[in-house]
Amino acid sequence: MKKIGFIGLGNMGFPMAKNLLEAGFTVYGVDLNKQAEQRLAGLGGKTGASISEVARICDLIFTSLPSSEAVEEIYLGDEGLIEESAPGMLLVDTSTVAPEVNVKIEEACRGKAVSFLASPVSGGVIGAVNKTLTFMIGGQKDDYERVLPVVERLGENIFHVNEDIDSGTKAKLINNLFIGFYTAGVAEALNLAKDSGIDLANLYDILHVSYASSRIYDRNYKGFIQDNNYEPGFTLKLLRKDLGFAMDLADKHHLDLPISKHLLSMYEEAIKDGYGDKDMSVIYQKIREQTKST
Ligand code: NAD
Repeated sequence: MKKIGFIGLGNMGFPMAKNLLEAGFTVYGVDLNKQAEQRLAGLGGKTGASISEVARICDLIFTSLPSSEAVEEIYLGDEGLIEESAPGMLLVDTSTVAPEVNVKIEEACRGKAVSFLASPVSGGVIGAVNKTLTFMIGGQKDDYERVLPVVERLGENIFHVNEDIDSGTKAKLINNLFIGFYTAGVAEALNLAKDSGIDLANLYDILHVSYASSRIYDRNYKGFIQDNNYEPGFTLKLLRKDLGFAMDLADKHHLDLPISKHLLSMYEEAIKDGYGDKDMSVIYQKIREQTKST
């Protein structure tokens, strides 16, 4: 696989596309944001082609898109990936979308000589930059084996969850439910620490080696809260999207998730108040502001 398409060159897609270039592949990048395409072109990527052209040129295409709607449009739309792909194409979606979207795309691939894997990732922008992502892959085992040598250039932990196309997505939604809990927990606990007069840097040194330690505490505190800088990262809007999918999955299984419901409404309120495009850790700042105003 020498010619690889990459559609969606955002916070996650851009560093992944860059790593593929550095691994020696020819990478065709597409994004609505032409500045992102220019950045990739500056590194030697091929840009300026349409989705259908990329589908005809490449033999493997990754997507990293912000919503189920965007993924449906790119895969299933007129002149979309499935309609235009050459026989033998392998399509790999690394976005986090509703499990039903994975199923719809797999169904659309049937009857065409086109394969599809739904492979959400975890590890954040740092993981994408440092090639330490976790891939949670759902789909046919032989397709997984075909893509493995390429994704090994992007991540450290590559899992074939099972042959159900939405199995990786379900694992990822559970992952993000944990993230939703941890992010709110870190924010609320640090708010108490701050008002109790405890130095947060000192506290981190202590808790980092205690049971409170977690990768989300590390990430949210060291990467954002400590510097009071909430440039994403992983936006609150994206977290809200994934918690919504997790709640839909729970509904499908007739499960009530009362704590998650509460979290979701807290995040929704923060988005309404204008925090949606900031990193998810900004929920700490929102809680601080609420504390000060009460
Ligand atoms: P992002 O918003 O930074 O990037 C998405 C990119 O897709 C943007 O550059 C946008 O212009 C482009 N795009 C949107 N619609 C398009 C279309 N129709 N055609 C071409 N390009 C289009 O988002 P991100 O943070 O990179 O996340 C991408 C996906 O990865 C999401 O599904 C997210 O849930 C998932 N994810 C993100 C993180 C993270 O830490 N940011 C971690 C794991 C998974």
